[in-house]
Amino acid sequence: KSRAKRFDRGQPGVTFDDVAGLQNAKRDLREISDYLRDPQPYRKLGAKIPRGVLLMGPPGTGKTLLARAVAGEANVPFFSISASEFIEMFVGVGASRVRDMFQSAKKEAPSIIFIDEVDSIGRARGTGLGGGHDEREQTLNQILNEMDGFEPHEAVVVLAATNRPDVLDAALMRPGRFDRKVTLDLPDRKARQAILRIHAQNVPLAADVDLVRMAALTVGFSGADLANLVNEAALLAGRKGAGEVDMALMLEARDKVVLGGRREMLLSD
Ligand code: ATP
Repeated sequence: KSRAKRFDRGQPGVTFDDVAGLQNAKRDLREISDYLRDPQPYRKLGAKIPRGVLLMGPPGTGKTLLARAVAGEANVPFFSISASEFIEMFVGVGASRVRDMFQSAKKEAPSIIFIDEVDSIGRARGTGLGGGHDEREQTLNQILNEMDGFEPHEAVVVLAATNRPDVLDAALMRPGRFDRKVTLDLPDRKARQAILRIHAQNVPLAADVDLVRMAALTVGFSGADLANLVNEAALLAGRKGAGEVDMALMLEARDKVVLGGRREMLLSD
């Protein structure tokens, strides 16, 4: 596994407009991006902004996208790591990476830290599940120590994503840590339509493409599935030498995404 990417600064320019649906999540997170854009008025009011926010939702519902959008809205640097990377590392590497990342984020504050798949290190301790995994535990403890060690004036907000909130160690949710929760649901029909529209923006569509109908035919699809569908349709068009994507290709791509997901499920069972 590559160790070159300690954390990435994120693509600048992702904003809430790039995130379809998820109105409640966006409303909750706007408070954070407003604060990071200009912490001064909040400081004068003595307002305590949340240190850590847990983004909870099924795979592909836009947790990473939304975290990037908070940074983009606030126009602040975005530092990210995926907690699952630490699992196979030597003891001490995860903790030192966490330390480095928090140090950089504080140096460049206001800023955002994003920890993806936090459940892979943040599982409840002593459950027997990966119990006694030193690396995991040290990394988790380092995250908790760093969050407890923030000074009140340090404008760094830590966002963490998980699709397994049920297995998380309660220590993560204590006051001053990830004490704020934001839930992301699978998109409803209107949101699916909006997501399809966003991802079809740069794809030439034939006149017969009906995104309202596509939204109705994609119950249970995540945002990532829908992005994938549009891309598959464009690839199919390319392969057939067509200059645009028509409804038949959209439907073919839809089946492909459904079957792809089912295959993955069968393989992982
Ligand atoms: P995972 O749990 O698998 O890490 P995630 O919840 O972090 O997934 P993202 O990585 O943010 O999901 O989503 C993958 C891609 O799906 C995004 O980069 C984006 O292209 C698309 N997508 C997901 N949700 C949305 C949305 N609400 N609006 C627009 N695009 C979306």
